[in-house]
Amino acid sequence: MRQADVIIVGAGIIGAACADALSERGLQVTVIEQDVPGSGATAAGMGHLVVMDDNAAELALSSYSLTLWRQLAAGQDQAARHEYSQCGTIWVAADEEEMAAARAKAEVLSAHGIACDMLDANQLYAAEPQLRAGLAGGLLVGGDGLVYAPKSARLLLGKAQARGAVLEYGSVTALEDHGVVLADGRTLRAQHIVLAAGSRCSLLLPELPLQPKKGHIAVTDRYPGFIRHQLVELGYIKSAHAASGSSVAFNLQPRPTGQILIGSSRQFGTTDLAVDNAMLQAMLRHAVSFTPALAQHHILRCWTGLRAATPDGLPLIGPHPARQGLWLATGHEGLGITTSLATAQLLASQMCGGSSAIATSPYLPERFHG
Ligand SMILES: Cc1cc2nc3c(=O)[nH]c(=O)nc-3n(C[C@H](O)[C@H](O)[C@H](O)COP(=O)(O)OP(=O)(O)OC[C@H]3O[C@@H](n4cnc5c(N)ncnc54)[C@H](O)[C@@H]3O)c2cc1C
Repeated sequence: MRQADVIIVGAGIIGAACADALSERGLQVTVIEQDVPGSGATAAGMGHLVVMDDNAAELALSSYSLTLWRQLAAGQDQAARHEYSQCGTIWVAADEEEMAAARAKAEVLSAHGIACDMLDANQLYAAEPQLRAGLAGGLLVGGDGLVYAPKSARLLLGKAQARGAVLEYGSVTALEDHGVVLADGRTLRAQHIVLAAGSRCSLLLPELPLQPKKGHIAVTDRYPGFIRHQLVELGYIKSAHAASGSSVAFNLQPRPTGQILIGSSRQFGTTDLAVDNAMLQAMLRHAVSFTPALAQHHILRCWTGLRAATPDGLPLIGPHPARQGLWLATGHEGLGITTSLATAQLLASQMCGGSSAIATSPYLPERFHG
């Protein structure tokens, strides 16, 4: 077995995507995972692939990554393997103020070549009859989609393993220059170390500007055709970017199985993964206020996960500003499934040289070094 050129800590969607991209460029990759690949935030997430446009860098990263996802999941076979569906997103506008926000969003997306359509109230109800009466309209972004992210992580890792990448089970307890120390006492060395351990990156590098944002999700039994698009209230954007406090937002997803995923909530200052009943109730009540018939549906399971959030909402992708041979691929907050493939390409282009499809500078960790 060749000595690794790169050790990746963490086999979530980010580590797996990096393993795929780096092995594709001919590097010998070892991935170290302390649990089951894809079992962290990746398994907790909704798997919504969504173009977000709160700033130019977020729009560039998410729309580039959406393009890569559509390529990866092209063809029936690949789409089925990733449980990919191009369901599109409808951003639901409750009133005229939110319609104005939808129009502003449509302008930004259209200016960047992203197809989208404003819906008046009639068009909204024709598209999604289960929505409550009295809504103003919405914005349909047809290129958005969804995947089953833990499976995608396994598939990406499998592609890397087919090129010779090695998956090692173990817990990394410390990072050294060009090396990692494992809980069993071994030290593994490589020219490059990539830290892709999600919210747990802070345990290994407490200086990182990351804080956990806890989220709840519930999944229902199968109700095929209940909704057809990912439905998100425009108010979600306020909730997603709040820097403190707890909040819920209406976010409903039609799984290809006919199940409905119900989100979303955000809480700061806790890493306790237990379901918080008050938060869950608030989230479900809010969802029912948008789709009243949801109240009749059976919920099978609820769970939580931790998003790793940076102060500016953008991920950390690139060399650690002060540590030899250490690279960061973390801080993806609530968008890491969407942005995983682009993250991996940006990291690979920095590590291996060569051009990248979008600028790498907005995501460099050095922006917080100081
Ligand atoms: C409730 C919720 C909903 C979300 N919905 C969406 C969505 O719809 N769309 C979207 O794009 N994003 C969504 N996200 C965000 C997305 O899930 C994350 O950004 C993404 O999964 C982060 O992936 P990751 O690989 O960085 O982290 P993780 O998936 O957490 O993977 C990190 C891996 O590293 C391993 N690890 C950690 N420490 C060590 C160590 N010391 N040694 C060895 N291994 C280690 C862990 O076991 C884990 O497998 C959501 C997140 C949450 C919580």
